[in-house]
This record gives sequence, C-alpha cells and structure tokens, in this order.
Amino acid sequence: GKRAFIAGVADDNGYGWAIAKSLAAAGAEILVGTWVPALNIFESSLQRGKFDESRTLPDGSLMKITKVYPLDAVYDCPEDVPEDVKTNKRYAGSSNWTVKEVAECVKQDFGSIDILVHSLANGPEVGKPILETSRNGYLAAISASSYSFVSLLKYFAPIMNPGTFLFLRHLLYPFSSSFKNIVKLSLVLISGGATISLSFIASERIMPGYGGGMSTAKAALESDTRMLAFEAGRKHQIRVNSISAGPLKSRAAKAIGS
Ligand code: NAD
Repeated sequence: GKRAFIAGVADDNGYGWAIAKSLAAAGAEILVGTWVPALNIFESSLQRGKFDESRTLPDGSLMKITKVYPLDAVYDCPEDVPEDVKTNKRYAGSSNWTVKEVAECVKQDFGSIDILVHSLANGPEVGKPILETSRNGYLAAISASSYSFVSLLKYFAPIMNPGTFLFLRHLLYPFSSSFKNIVKLSLVLISGGATISLSFIASERIMPGYGGGMSTAKAALESDTRMLAFEAGRKHQIRVNSISAGPLKSRAAKAIGS
C-alpha cells in the first residue's frame, strides 16, 4: 500500500481531513502534520472519539491515523525559530516540528512516503483588502501558504518513492496513405511519488474578501507548481500538482469574509 503524509489537518472540517479519508479508503497508510498550536486539541479530540463519526470509511471501519506529527511549516529548521516562539507555551511542549525535522522523523519512523499533501494556508490579514495589507501581513501569507509547499517538497522529496518514466509512442495519421506514419514520442511519469496542494480561484480572478495577500499566495503556489513539477520530476521522479478547490466551510474559511 501507499503511505501518505498530509500537512494541515487539525480538525475534521477541512480539505486535509477529507483527503486523508479518501486516501485511507483507497488503502493508504495515513500520517498527518498538525500545526503546533492546534496539536493538543486535535490529539485529545481524536482520543476522546470526537471524530469517530466523521472517521467512518465507506466500509464501516474507522480511518486510522498511524501518527500525528507536530508541524509549523513557516520554519524550515530549528535555527529559524525565533526565541519568543521557542519559549511560547503552545510550542515548548512539542519538539522536532520544523519542516526539516519532521521529514527526518518520518524518515526515521517509516523510511519513505508515496504521497505528500499540502493542505495548509494562513494569512493573518486575510480580512483586509490588499490595498490595506501591511508588508508583514503580505509576506506572512506567502510564507505560510506558498513557501511552505516549496519547503515541504524540498525536505520530503528525497524520502519519496520515485516513479518511472514511460515512453508513449503515438501514431499520427495511421490510416492515411498519402502520409507516412508520423511517430510522436512523449515522456510520461507514472506511479511513484505524487504531491498535491490546494489552490483557490482568487489566484486568477478578482475575489473581494480574499485579501491580506492570500490571492497573491495562491498565484505563487500555482506558478511554483509548474516550476517544481519540472524540477522535481527530473530530480526525484515525482509529480507535482495543485487543485483549485471550491469553497468549503472549513475553520480557515471562517476567517474570510463572505
Ligand atoms: P483548514 O483549516 O482545515 O486547513 C488549514 C490548516 O492549515 C489548518 O489545519 C491549520 O492549522 C494549518 N496551518 C496554518 N498555518 C500553519 C503552519 N504555519 N504550519 C502548519 N499548519 C498550518 O482549512 P481548509 O480550507 O481545508 O484549507 C486547506 C487548504 O485548502 C488551504 O490551502 C486552503 O487555502 C485551501 N482551499 C480552501 C478553500 C475553502 O473554501 N475552504 C478553497 C480553496 C482552497
């Protein structure tokens, strides 16, 4: 079976949870990365059975989450963490939650993964129009919602199982007698590692209310998806995709005006 790491699950309302369930129903082993400040509530709710109803898979069994890793995807390594965060009581109780460390822990625990899901975003000023957004708010949105994917891919790609390139031979004009058959070769990456992130239509169209640099962050995420597919496909034989998801009443979406 495949092993999936889903970054950005902290309750049973969001896309990360739903993706985890679909992957579990398809037979994948589920690991999740949960934002450090949300970790305690998520784990205790899981243990208390608060999610049991929504954990139910189509065959009646409960989705099993093999391991929950604390994660803060705005920090790549311990040296990047500022003192006030390190000593914050919501962070001090957990360890190894920078992106690099989480990848190392997953490697130690399981060796490799097949699927990486990026289902996280944060824009502290999402409620403000972009004209009123501060530089810090804008950069924070990009850091948490766009660079977080670059960072996850950078540290997880080396532990993702590579796929193989397949040559497909297309015959053009196979029935025409006046043409010689024209053979087209294309290279397709199959099986092996796959990564996905969740974007939003506000990256390409005006959507008032999706402020604070979040529209910018999604545009960056989509542009990075193309470049990273090119780079990671060649370097690691893994696929990189993004889905532009429809509106869902998740916890994150409640911060956005209607
Ligand atoms: P959600 O609240 O379930 O997921 C967002 C998660 O990101 C939360 O679990 C939060 O704890 C986590 N997070 C925030 N900052 C983090 C950090 N620094 N490190 C680690 N985790 C962090 O909400 P959702 O709407 O399901 O969001 C999942 C993805 O789907 C996001 O990328 C979001 O932009 C995208 N999306 C959502 C909608 C929608 O309408 N809800 C539409 C399109 C795309």
